[in-house]
Amino acid sequence: MADDILKNRLSHAYIIEGAYGSGKHTFAMSVAAAIACQKKDELSSPLPCCTCPSCKKIFDGNSPDVIFIRREEGKATMGVDVIRELRQDVSIAPNELPVKLYIIEEAHLMTEQAQNAFLLTLEEPPAYVIFLLLCETSSSLLETVRSRAPTLRTEPIDTERIGTHLCRISTEASALARSSPEEFGEITAAANGSIGRALELLDAKKRKPIVAKREAARDLVNLCATRRNSAAAVRYLNGLPQKRDELTDQFNFTLLCLRDLLLCKQTENAPLCFFANREEACTLAYSFTTPELLGLCDAVNETVDRLKKNANVRLTLTSFAVRCGLIQ
Ligand SMILES: [Zn+2]
Repeated sequence: MADDILKNRLSHAYIIEGAYGSGKHTFAMSVAAAIACQKKDELSSPLPCCTCPSCKKIFDGNSPDVIFIRREEGKATMGVDVIRELRQDVSIAPNELPVKLYIIEEAHLMTEQAQNAFLLTLEEPPAYVIFLLLCETSSSLLETVRSRAPTLRTEPIDTERIGTHLCRISTEASALARSSPEEFGEITAAANGSIGRALELLDAKKRKPIVAKREAARDLVNLCATRRNSAAAVRYLNGLPQKRDELTDQFNFTLLCLRDLLLCKQTENAPLCFFANREEACTLAYSFTTPELLGLCDAVNETVDRLKKNANVRLTLTSFAVRCGLIQ
């Protein structure tokens, strides 16, 4: 894709496919920065440079020409209304950049009607428009959409590479890495393989809820390990967030925690994405058998799925707890 940017041969749409936390946002922002980068014509520098004013503006989320499209809060799908608004906005020329970049989050949640409306724009877009469709798997998009947008895949990155990249794009991060390597290490581990999350964690205010979700994920897995404390399980379930999006996020953290435990079972030196402390991970891993861990992963995946499909929150939580043996 870098080559396409340099040669001004970009397609009008790309599908960026990858699991939760695999860096889809970072990739999308990097594409935007690479297009806008003021060092684009200097052949020797890698794109984006991440330091010029244009790059910084994009990574700070301050560019008027990089627009995020999301489903409405509380809705399980992205309906045709959102796309109609998008279609109106598309006809307005960009402010500062040569392009207007639309980042469509959770594109797989577009209804069929929304995708068909989107196709109308995709068939004849204004020359300056680029769409990036972020999704976990492109198979849930209509074939007609997929045939017009090349698919690119992202994979989660390990803690070390996160640290390196973070220091490259943020002066605050490189200062912290020097002044407090331990705190910096905690941030890169808590990022769960996602640069976007690592950037968020640099902000102490944003770090607080994420640290809380990490703790809650550990607590849940610890509860599953003890298997016999129904009272504690009920207290835990009552304390979970009731908002669908927050709860989904909470379970996604749990999944990352479980993945680390499964990796610990396989090899001693597996690159961990959730735990900063390998010993803690290994100790917890040994309270489970591998089939038990796989069963928990399935239960969490199913719960996330049901939450996304608008199932009743209480019922979903209860059936999760029963399936994991937390309550009878
Ligand atoms: Zn730049």
